Amino acid sequence: MPRTFWLETLGCPKNQVDSDKIRAHMAADGLSPAQDPAGADVVVVNTCAFVEEAREESVATILELHEQRTDDSQLVVTGCMAQRYGDELAEALPEADAVVEFGQPVSLRASRGGRELDISPADGVPGFDLLNLPRPAAQRPWAYVKAAEGCDKACGLCAIPSFRGPQVSRGIDSILEEVEQLQVREVVLVAQDLGAFGRDQNTGQRRIVELVSEVAVRVDWVRLLYLFPSELTDELIEVVASSPVPYFDLSLQHVSAPLVRAMRRPGNASSYLERIERIRELAPDAALRSNFIVGYPGETEADHDALLDFVQRARLDWCGFFSYSEEAGTHAAGLEPKVDGGLVAERLAEVRELQDRITADARDALVGTEVTVLVDEARRARSHREAPEIDGIISVPESLAVGEFHRVVVTSAAGPDLVADSVQQAGAKAAP
Ligand code: SF4
Repeated sequence: MPRTFWLETLGCPKNQVDSDKIRAHMAADGLSPAQDPAGADVVVVNTCAFVEEAREESVATILELHEQRTDDSQLVVTGCMAQRYGDELAEALPEADAVVEFGQPVSLRASRGGRELDISPADGVPGFDLLNLPRPAAQRPWAYVKAAEGCDKACGLCAIPSFRGPQVSRGIDSILEEVEQLQVREVVLVAQDLGAFGRDQNTGQRRIVELVSEVAVRVDWVRLLYLFPSELTDELIEVVASSPVPYFDLSLQHVSAPLVRAMRRPGNASSYLERIERIRELAPDAALRSNFIVGYPGETEADHDALLDFVQRARLDWCGFFSYSEEAGTHAAGLEPKVDGGLVAERLAEVRELQDRITADARDALVGTEVTVLVDEARRARSHREAPEIDGIISVPESLAVGEFHRVVVTSAAGPDLVADSVQQAGAKAAP
């Protein structure tokens, strides 16, 4: 009987890359994907430990899959929760047969008594992560590629450096090899602190511009996710602004100077606005995204007003707003005063409502324009303005070939999403 696996992935794009590599490792070991968890010999859950909500979802998923699997299958928990809470998690979850940290690819080998789990690191795989494991060709026209793991910053709100460790960048050659194997039209580069890519590689210099330029030779579109404000150099702005994907995902978190300092991060509203202005000078068509935390300890009405003012002035295309989640062991965990949960909910609603209007206005303004899209699947496409699985989508005619670029005309907008026709079917007023 062929042995089978079921792999469930939670959390961010970086986890999806790890899952691809776990999948490739299990396939190389002769396991094939099961139709459902009940038909799998090994069930793997790649967990997320980002905030409390994500941890709860991870545990719920583990328990749900435990209910669905057969008695003689193996349930393996890996990913950020396994890394952060290893033994504690194993004790709290007797349902799991193994709790496996990063760098321990999972496989299921035949043994005399039947099947047994093999979770020892493969030869040559560094202990810190699955970064250098092989990866199968992508199933979609785009793929995430992880450029580095870990982070050297010490933001007050973030526990990532404590369990992912300091930044370890991959060699550019290894990334390029993976990019070529994937055979995609678009590569989305990810890392905890992508702008600082390469700084840990002996010279102390960032190598992100070199990396982006090299990847751009191999694929049509290169998109960068998570740019820490102080890593957004003029050179990086110029390279991205002049590329076919002038898309800037700025990791801002807040803009009020006292609160930004309390977060142990650099900058303030005016320095961020200056960077945004520079981007728009070079690429008026650029799309900008950011994330913000609401309810960080000590956040005052004045801080919240500063955020509202910034959101209004910056007019970013996309923003995510998240309530602060206290993470054990972080600088912020010891800070007072905590912001009342009800007040956080009110502030979140206010700033989200403002941004929703800004996003909708920006999308409405695209109606009648002509754009280049990559068709991800039948009837579903994206332009440079939409990161896959994160931003809005563009509905296109079914006749447009999947995995190809097409010129389309935007005919209507509904909130974050657009509808477009191929250029032969409708007239256009501009061609950005
Ligand atoms: S840069 Fe990002 S990953 Fe690094 S400490 Fe700050 S929030 Fe965490």
